[in-house]
Amino acid sequence: MLGFLKQVTAYTKEAFGAANYLFQGLAVTFDHMRRRPITVQYPYEKLIPSERYRGRIHYEFDKCIACEVCVRVCPINLPVVDWVMNKETKKKELRNYSIDFGVCIFCGNCVEYCPTNCLSMTEEYELAAFDRHSLNYDNVALGRLPTSVTTDPSVQPLRELSYLPKGTMDPHDLPQDISRAGKLPSEIIELGKENPSTINLKKTTQNPTQIEPNQE
Ligand code: SF4
Ligand code: SF4
Repeated sequence: MLGFLKQVTAYTKEAFGAANYLFQGLAVTFDHMRRRPITVQYPYEKLIPSERYRGRIHYEFDKCIACEVCVRVCPINLPVVDWVMNKETKKKELRNYSIDFGVCIFCGNCVEYCPTNCLSMTEEYELAAFDRHSLNYDNVALGRLPTSVTTDPSVQPLRELSYLPKGTMDPHDLPQDISRAGKLPSEIIELGKENPSTINLKKTTQNPTQIEPNQE
């Protein structure tokens, strides 16, 4: 009789333990039901990159003065500026310019320090290639205008998840005029002009209008 009672007790303990594990698994499942969806049906849907996204560099050949500042500020001396000195005019003549995106770390130093603003970071991030040598862009490839998620008719653009309105979980089918949780950089600048105490005005020689929100 005592042995039977022990067996029943052990069986009951195991049944409660199994039910506990089952409940823990279901709790994780139910918890996911109220989380933000992160699936994007790429390439039919694409997230709109952040305004400050540092993607493929765009280059304007006509503005470049071959000063090589971009090479000196690059952590890996990556841009190749191919120029010759014209002995008659005693001026540099630019022949070619290239950046190897298979090596570039997209730090943006070259863009920041270029004196003629002929370099800019774009929102283009699809740089996959079968041959990494094809990522070495010359001035023609660098001068190509970037593809934009919002202007491509074959793509459904999704607003960036971090910019979704507060409390909104689904990035699909949002009206464009709905206010979002995060502020645009232009909105932060306007806010700083109206109320300078809310932000730090950080003036530098390179970018005198650079403004950073207060870290609170
Ligand atoms: S810093 Fe600008 S202007 Fe000077 S070589 Fe580089 S891209 Fe050209
Ligand atoms: S983004 Fe950075 S790593 Fe790439 S070329 Fe410019 S300075 Fe060099």
